[in-house]
Amino acid sequence: MKLISIVVPCYNEQEVLPLFYKEITKIMQQMQNKHPELDFELLFINDGSKDKTLECFHELAKKDKRVRYISFSRNFGKEAGMYAGLKNAKGDYIVIMDADLQHPPAFIPDMYEYVKSGEYDCATTRRVNRDGESKVRSWFSRKFYKIMNKISQTEIVDGAQDFRFMTRQMVDAILSMKEYNRFSKGIFSWVGFRTKYIPYENVERAAGTTAWSFKSLFKYSLEGIFAFSTAPLALASLLGVLSCLVAFIMILILVIKWLAFGDPVQGYTTTICVILLVGGLQLFCIGILGQYLSKTYMETKGRPIYLIQETEESLNLNEDNKKNKESDIKNP
Ligand code: UDP
Ligand code: MG
Repeated sequence: MKLISIVVPCYNEQEVLPLFYKEITKIMQQMQNKHPELDFELLFINDGSKDKTLECFHELAKKDKRVRYISFSRNFGKEAGMYAGLKNAKGDYIVIMDADLQHPPAFIPDMYEYVKSGEYDCATTRRVNRDGESKVRSWFSRKFYKIMNKISQTEIVDGAQDFRFMTRQMVDAILSMKEYNRFSKGIFSWVGFRTKYIPYENVERAAGTTAWSFKSLFKYSLEGIFAFSTAPLALASLLGVLSCLVAFIMILILVIKWLAFGDPVQGYTTTICVILLVGGLQLFCIGILGQYLSKTYMETKGRPIYLIQETEESLNLNEDNKKNKESDIKNP
């Protein structure tokens, strides 16, 4: 028997979960018909949802033994959700996907074939268009990938997604990266392994709304840069060297002018401008240093990436207790 774990991080997904469950079980059935040796587990992560997502998990776990869930004590972010899912999945193969059906379950059988053939360790989808996304957002996304790939040794494929079918070996490699500031797109690529990219056309969310605003995406992309590149630090040094060079040339010119023409130094405005410019440059560079320092600070604290409030095991225990109590009342 081979177990496939399907990990699904969820944040306020009550509207789309029943739909997702219907679609994914259909695919699971299809795959089992074709490969009777396959078994499945569905591992949902409740990332501190404020709606009835957890209640949905309760219902699903009660009627389907393949459903497991982990509920966080608060919202820790999708990265933490994915990490918790990978860490707790028991499968020989592990799939990560979103709950909103933007990652169509229909790709999973193909992904399985690619990985099973032994030719690849991971299969993932790659967006070939950005329809349904604003122009500004697409522009920033494309620029981000361009800059990222230029300044970082880790190559991140434009349009690659978190929808992945992976072997246990690759997941163990990902789990061995215990960093607190997680940027999965970079981590997936950093660990290496042979990856098959399946092109696909972007689809809209089936229901509910996205939790990502432009601001949070922008912040996330900066996280990615600071987590996978030290180029900003080099930029700070470069700016320092450049401004020294300019200053040196200016000093030379001034001294020569003074010796040759006996010009008194004048120009209050220029002085102020230069002070402001250099001051600004210095603050900018300290800011870059600060970014790395703050990341290091968070890493050294060694805080847990997520905290669990309940899992399907506590639900089963509660159910058992209830049953025991009922039978005690019936047969005292
Ligand atoms: N998600 C999460 N925690 C968060 C935000 C999002 O677990 O803090 C989940 C969400 O439920 C969904 C997936 O991450 O399953 C992708 O989120 P979303 O669809 O909002 O992002 P988008 O597809 O717009 O990038
Ligand atoms: Mg989505």
